Amino acid sequence: MYFIANWKMFGDIKSLNSLNKVLKFSRHKKNNKIRLIYCPPYTLLNLFHKKIKNSNIELGAQNCHEEEVSGPFTGSISSKMLKKIGAKYVIVGHSENRAIGESNLTINKKIKSSINTGLKIIFCIGETLQQRKKKQTHKVLLDQISKGLKGIKKMNNVIFAYEPVWSIGTGITPKANDLKKNIAFLRNSLLKKFRLKNPKILYGGSVNPKNVRNFKEINIIDGFLVGGASQDSKKFIDIVKKTFN
Ligand code: PEP
Repeated sequence: MYFIANWKMFGDIKSLNSLNKVLKFSRHKKNNKIRLIYCPPYTLLNLFHKKIKNSNIELGAQNCHEEEVSGPFTGSISSKMLKKIGAKYVIVGHSENRAIGESNLTINKKIKSSINTGLKIIFCIGETLQQRKKKQTHKVLLDQISKGLKGIKKMNNVIFAYEPVWSIGTGITPKANDLKKNIAFLRNSLLKKFRLKNPKILYGGSVNPKNVRNFKEINIIDGFLVGGASQDSKKFIDIVKKTFN
């Protein structure tokens, strides 16, 4: 099971102290099989890397530029730069970036660049409320994965995060049945159309310690991408604990 903390544009040097609890938690033997991945803002990647050294916690970034190495792109960070600073993962296609104009083509380039660099990709997909109301969810998901993965052969480093846009940061989560159907649709498409052998599909959208048990019966989920609640270590640890107990 993956538990990915997306800190978004939050956190400063002081927030690193909150990691102590998670480091302690991650050292328990029984937690060895859990993948805990932190995606702090760029400004904290280096400090995070030092702090989690020799622990089970892994490091990810929240985005990258579509160019692999370097270039005249003011304000951007390449996948290679991320790799060099110790990141193993990168989130690509987050709806908050799609909302400000990131296209499927750009996402495709970012995924290609990150694969070439050797990063693992957390590829976010999901429908908006309007698309859901128009019953376009499956069509949208298929479009996002087809365009995002176009021309990519080595897909075993891509992890999928199904994040309905209407659920992110709203406190609203999908009904178990709908979620099951959408995850099953995604898995089926990835197996059959894209020939992935064992796709990892996570859920993201308003997951917190109070509602995480609602997802328990959906045993086809391989983990969670957690935004708001991941900034509080206690809540993040509780999400992990309640997933298993
Ligand atoms: C996210 O940003 O990917 C996310 C799932 O956010 P939240 O948990 O706050 O809804």
